[in-house]
Amino acid sequence: MSKQTIRQFFTQFSDDDTCLQHLFNVRYGDNHECPKCNKAGNWPRLKGHKAFSCQWCGHHIHPMAGTIYQGSTTPLQLWFYAMFLFTKSRNGVSAKELERQLGVTYKTAWRIGHKIREHMARVDGDKPLGGAGKAVEIDEAFIGGYEKGATGGKGKAIVLGMLEKGGDIMTKVVPNRQEFTLFPHIAGNILPGSEIHTDELAAYKNLKHEITYTHKTVVHSKEEYVGSEGQTTNGIEGFFMHLKRAIEGTHIWVSPKHLAKYAKEAEFIYNRRKNQGAILTDLLTCFPKG
Ligand SMILES: [Zn+2]
Repeated sequence: MSKQTIRQFFTQFSDDDTCLQHLFNVRYGDNHECPKCNKAGNWPRLKGHKAFSCQWCGHHIHPMAGTIYQGSTTPLQLWFYAMFLFTKSRNGVSAKELERQLGVTYKTAWRIGHKIREHMARVDGDKPLGGAGKAVEIDEAFIGGYEKGATGGKGKAIVLGMLEKGGDIMTKVVPNRQEFTLFPHIAGNILPGSEIHTDELAAYKNLKHEITYTHKTVVHSKEEYVGSEGQTTNGIEGFFMHLKRAIEGTHIWVSPKHLAKYAKEAEFIYNRRKNQGAILTDLLTCFPKG
């Protein structure tokens, strides 16, 4: 499935009512059983309200409740369009860009952007990686973009990345690169039987004693990029290069506090690289079921 064009998007979501009906359909659907009278039936739109009512007892359902749209006064079509813009850009969408494209205030644009990133993180979830016969690359990177006057790693935060070769990636923002910090993330998210590929960072040294994993190291200090047994961390390093480029190119600088959301956005997009149409479809359909 390929990405939608802008024309297809506006044909499908031609106005706010269509968007609200779409949201109702993906969360509740036809013949939804009423939580009040327990009868299944039709749910006609309630005139003048962003709600639908049970054909039997008149009970109301507000499909925006419990979603990222809850409490928002921004038209639903603009929210959908903002998501569409996220699927169109390779390096992310800045709040400034959303402000311009949606015609909303910068504050609203900033909030919409972050709500969408949080939504991406929830939709993507954290399914365990690896398993018997599978290899997982692990690496970390200092990320945060360019902060005026900052030197070295100042203003940046550390992102831990775990990438199943040929499969999904998972990112975690971590406070340091100590074994006691990184190991719980590894043990908690990588299945036993996995072959783990890392560089020679000290925190990974004890992985070789871990009977549940096989550990292979790439010795970057010897300019080795593919080890003698085929181990490599090129995949995860490529992901980090892209994430840094996106942040520096689009957002210039992001605070450590918000970094996890940008990492999750990149993770969500990466995990749909083989089915790009799913980027928008998942964003528009994966909401808590009614
Ligand atoms: Zn009812």
